[in-house]
Amino acid sequence: CGIVGYIGQNDTKEVLLNGLEKLEYRGYDSAGIAILNDDGLNLFKVKGRIATLRESVDHSIHATMGIGHTRWATHGEPSESNAHPHQSTSKRFTLVHNGVIENYQELKREYLSDVNFASETDTEVVVQLIEMFYEQHHDTAEAFRQVMGLLKGSYAIALIDLEDQDTLYVAKNKSPLLVGLGDGFNVVASDAMATLKVTDQYLEIYDQEVVLVNRNFVEVQKLDGAVVERKPYTAQIDA
Ligand code: GLU
Repeated sequence: CGIVGYIGQNDTKEVLLNGLEKLEYRGYDSAGIAILNDDGLNLFKVKGRIATLRESVDHSIHATMGIGHTRWATHGEPSESNAHPHQSTSKRFTLVHNGVIENYQELKREYLSDVNFASETDTEVVVQLIEMFYEQHHDTAEAFRQVMGLLKGSYAIALIDLEDQDTLYVAKNKSPLLVGLGDGFNVVASDAMATLKVTDQYLEIYDQEVVLVNRNFVEVQKLDGAVVERKPYTAQIDA
């Protein structure tokens, strides 16, 4: 189980698939990617290995941002519908998650009793909640922070908003997550192995922080929106 995300100038499919291959050792009952371009969001999910996912992806689609996931099921059997990325009902929001949301049933009961769920995962609750909070304030960053504040358990999360081709929203709590910094691009991943070929500059992210990842800058925030200043470090790992 692991996540990757990329926003930059290059073809995101390759960065995501190569990154997922490096994360496969963490668990791999199913996998998926979501990539966004001017034509919309393209979602590919399979039960099985990254090699199977690679075959199912339409390689003619060019996109410069996207997110990917390799799953080790905790809630809901390994299947295509339970594979990540998961989407909100309107399909505006698309998300990958590594970890376990311990209070997902309470959250579902309290906020989402009217929602028809497409999967059996704890994860889908998160993306449906983001849509619900977005509808209240029409501010994706605010909705994202609010929902992260409601979650109990472990998560590394990356979110795409269909209406915004310039931002990946990421967050972590008790699951590993790194942001890798490049020139004109940025990447996120569960571990540095997934991104070592593209950068050696990393930003450490702490629990209960969210990061807005743009092509040219990265902003770390606390859950109340306060901006955190942090210097990157150079990874010394032999690839
Ligand atoms: N709990 C989530 C699920 O079962 C994520 C599992 C994982 O970390 O791969 O879908």
